[in-house]
Amino acid sequence: MSSTPINEHPLIVGIDLGTTNSLVAWCDESGPRILEDENGGNLPSVVRYDEQGNVAAIGKPARDHAVEFPTTTLFSVKRLMGRGIADVQNELNYLPYAVVAGEHNTARVQVTENKVVSPQEVSAIILRELKAKAEKALGKTVEKAVVTVPAYFDDAQRQATRDAGRIAGLDVVRIVNEPTAAALAYGLGVGEAEPDPGKQAMLDELEQDGTSDTAKNEPKPLAQLNEAGTVSLNTKFNTEACTTPGSGSGADPNVTGELDHDAFGSNSTVAVFDLGGGTFDVSILNLQQTEQGIVDQVVATSGDTHLGGDDVDRMIVELIQKEIAVQLDQEIDFPPSTRQAFRSFAEATKIRLSNSEYAQLEIDLGEGRTYQRSITKDELEEMMTPWVDRAIACCKEALKKADMTPDLIDRVIMVGGSTRIPLVRKKVGELFGTVPYTALNPDEVVALGAAVQGSILAGINRDMLLLDVIPLSLGIETLGGAVAKLIMSNTTIPAKATEQFTTHAEGQTNVKIHILQGERELVKDCRSLGEFDLTGIPPMPAGLPKIEVTFLVDANGVLNVSAVEKRSEKAARVQIIPNHGLTREEVDRMETESMTHAREDMTAHQLIDLRNQARLDMRAIERQINKVGDELDDAYRQEIAEKVAIVQKFVDTENPDANAFHVALDAMDKATIRLAELAIKQTLSEEQ
Ligand code: AMP
Repeated sequence: MSSTPINEHPLIVGIDLGTTNSLVAWCDESGPRILEDENGGNLPSVVRYDEQGNVAAIGKPARDHAVEFPTTTLFSVKRLMGRGIADVQNELNYLPYAVVAGEHNTARVQVTENKVVSPQEVSAIILRELKAKAEKALGKTVEKAVVTVPAYFDDAQRQATRDAGRIAGLDVVRIVNEPTAAALAYGLGVGEAEPDPGKQAMLDELEQDGTSDTAKNEPKPLAQLNEAGTVSLNTKFNTEACTTPGSGSGADPNVTGELDHDAFGSNSTVAVFDLGGGTFDVSILNLQQTEQGIVDQVVATSGDTHLGGDDVDRMIVELIQKEIAVQLDQEIDFPPSTRQAFRSFAEATKIRLSNSEYAQLEIDLGEGRTYQRSITKDELEEMMTPWVDRAIACCKEALKKADMTPDLIDRVIMVGGSTRIPLVRKKVGELFGTVPYTALNPDEVVALGAAVQGSILAGINRDMLLLDVIPLSLGIETLGGAVAKLIMSNTTIPAKATEQFTTHAEGQTNVKIHILQGERELVKDCRSLGEFDLTGIPPMPAGLPKIEVTFLVDANGVLNVSAVEKRSEKAARVQIIPNHGLTREEVDRMETESMTHAREDMTAHQLIDLRNQARLDMRAIERQINKVGDELDDAYRQEIAEKVAIVQKFVDTENPDANAFHVALDAMDKATIRLAELAIKQTLSEEQ
């Protein structure tokens, strides 16, 4: 086990030197994280020079005024790195600044009459800024970095990247392929456990149809949803892990703080789908863990240097312009500032439609006229289909180059902001027959992976990425702030569990699925991993919707949570990395805490369940009395009222005795059996 204190390891950061944006990250024992300063983590890869040829702005301020200074604002210089002037002819139409031939016919930029800069120098300015960001965040001098490059970069382009680092005062200890970095961020290729074939078959089935085999079981009644829309449950059933959970509550002895040497030789084939704003790359990699480290073989790459989210923005702008022309009955030559405003507006609309079913467009055309229309997700998807198909065609080409069929790809990783588009995820999933990895922020995943590589080179314990058991139980929030655990700690991965829930409120159309991690019984004592909404459930009486929640933790420790309302087939899902940011020590602490608080937690959970049940029962009693009240004699009415009053008191008391509460609830339920029978009889006679 690596026991060297973190301070004694060399400090190696990871840098994603991107075409549009750049990021710096660092990885310690608790995993990788993006380093930020007061301007956040993201640094636009843009540098502006002034008329004297001095650097005038870097990053966001440079990008924000690019339109005003088109010839001195340098962006996308990554496209020029290490390239000859002849290689970049195709790029020239896209770059408003002057690209000229330098020494040995290399591509350079003429920023002023007297100043010519190399792409390496411009990249160095970006790298220096990232170095400063990292130093501010860590409070230490940063001298070493892992820097990522596209898989297709040739030796000259890689050397140019190293040179940029050197100019920035950084020792580039390793150049890593961007797709490999993305895979490392997900812990792929690092001591991966070979999944049990039977178990894997079950998981594959789940991934493909989005439902679980346990779904065929008879659903049990119950569960409610609170006012805030949280799914609730007080009986558990239909839970299934793929393997026998490990016994005992302690840490699995096989999980150690060092690379698992038994797993050396593990081998996985990964497709990395990287769709950003302006470029698209797909890479097929073979990752192999050897004693020398991870060996990544780039089996094939494909892509399109001018395919990205910007195209979708343009499609929306064209639609708007066309419709405005129809509305005003004339072609309008919009000025650049208006076109720029349309672009921002179109991008916001596109982003909104990644999470909503429709977006409203409204543009003031002056003279009291407005352009107005709503655009649905379906409409946008129809517009985007040929665009997504271009990316899919590249994937097919990469597979062909690799002489592979999609089923030979073990995992698909999504990188780049445009992979947040649901249609993109759907089509990629369909092509490869698997749910693509989206748990990590697609803008950050490359930098995070570079940091992981940095931590491996620095010899930092990477415990958190090597767990082959689920370290802490996983569950969801239920009514009243309790946690329903679906997968228990120490279950070996991969693992799967399904439970059924329902709504609590009448006619409820949305439920929030809040995912939690921890051994404690209440939400407030567990760690929130994320949440998502299941929307569009048709209005039904409380308790009728059958909401099936499935947890799947795959062999890489990535958790897929899906929720399906079975009557309407409405579905939603989210992906999370459960152990992200937790050290072995933190897991141990949380486990110890759960044992210390076991009794009080159980009581608190029991009280929540009792309260939920009591409210449900009292509501039913009220309905039954309304129905058959006339048939009840005064003495029976009185008896029911007394029993209800006792239960109500327990509901209202802050910390009632759980046993006494239980007894009172039982007494109320027993006393109202006759009432329930009368109500059923009445219902049956009404139906006849
Ligand atoms: P990148 O080059 O990776 O930073 O990706 C930037 C692209 O991702 C831009 O075209 C953004 O408009 C797009 N993008 C970011 N977030 C979303 C989202 N939620 N839905 C659709 N596109 C997005």
